[in-house]
Amino acid sequence: MTAPAALLTVDLDALAANFHTLRALASGAEVAPVIKADGYGVGAGPAARRLKAEGAVRFFTARLTGGLVGREALGPGPTVYVLDGCRQGDVDALIQSDLTPVLSSLEQVERWRAEGRGRSCVLHVDTGMSRLGLRPEQAQTLDPAGLNVELVMSHLACADEPDHPANARQLDAFRALRQIFPDARRSLANSAGILLGQPYAFDAVRPGIALYGAGPCGHPEPRLKPVATFSAEVLQVRHVKAGETVGYGATFTAERDLTAAVLAVGYADGFSRAHGNGRGAVWLNGVLCPVLGRVSMDLTVVDASDCDVKPGDMGEVFGPNRRVEDAAQAAGTLAYELLTSVSPRVRRRWI
Ligand code: PLP
Repeated sequence: MTAPAALLTVDLDALAANFHTLRALASGAEVAPVIKADGYGVGAGPAARRLKAEGAVRFFTARLTGGLVGREALGPGPTVYVLDGCRQGDVDALIQSDLTPVLSSLEQVERWRAEGRGRSCVLHVDTGMSRLGLRPEQAQTLDPAGLNVELVMSHLACADEPDHPANARQLDAFRALRQIFPDARRSLANSAGILLGQPYAFDAVRPGIALYGAGPCGHPEPRLKPVATFSAEVLQVRHVKAGETVGYGATFTAERDLTAAVLAVGYADGFSRAHGNGRGAVWLNGVLCPVLGRVSMDLTVVDASDCDVKPGDMGEVFGPNRRVEDAAQAAGTLAYELLTSVSPRVRRRWI
């Protein structure tokens, strides 16, 4: 088989190292990995299997489909939670695959009470994000009969801003729920929540982005190792003369003669047009090369005047040299979006 022109290399040792780093940071709480969105793009199956081998026993997915992938990868034993809960029509599939729903509305609670055959569930209580979750007063007046709640959880809205007053407000609101299902375990923190410190850790933490090596606060976190490297082959090296334009719309005009490298990556691979016109860059043989003109569907042209480059070389869209947080910032987005946008066309390789 020929080498792929664009490749996502996933370093499972780095994933394992991040898991242990987060365990050390989580003040004794259990680390329950979040493997939704195909493990933030790195492959939910391989990631889940490796994390299980490192000692993880509970995993969070978003959709029922992600839960099924998680169960398939992990086999019987580990708990697989589905954050979407039990949508109408999902109950049988959840039970058949031994998936545990995260109930986030009274409607879901009543559905699971009626149809869940006494199986365990998670209760998601909204402490201030106004996204999913029962309101605290709804949770506090819930009849516990027939509900086997193993975990009470909430989600932080502003943990990536450590000084934001919403963090302390949500912590207080979560603590105020200690009387509901008092035997159930408690979970509040995502990746950024873990960095907020011990009071936020409770019994279990739910990191996603930090496991995959990206700092949850928008900049690289030195204690985490990059997991994913997105690379693309140089298809051509060409000379652009002063006055010539590059790409669709002729949005870039060369002010001097330059050397351009044409890379086999475009927005159909997950390298969005937001990287175009000098906002984004690709690391090529030790040099960060700015994008010239627009990113097109399959191709991106970069200014490689300052580097020694030939066809067949691989450029790094993100990875250890061009950190995904920085690539995301250049495009006005977050590492979350870059990681989860790498399209299925890009071959994955797990090392
Ligand atoms: N918990 C819940 C409920 C989530 O929705 C998410 C992700 O959005 C996470 C945990 C993991 O968040 P992060 O990737 O910021 O660690």
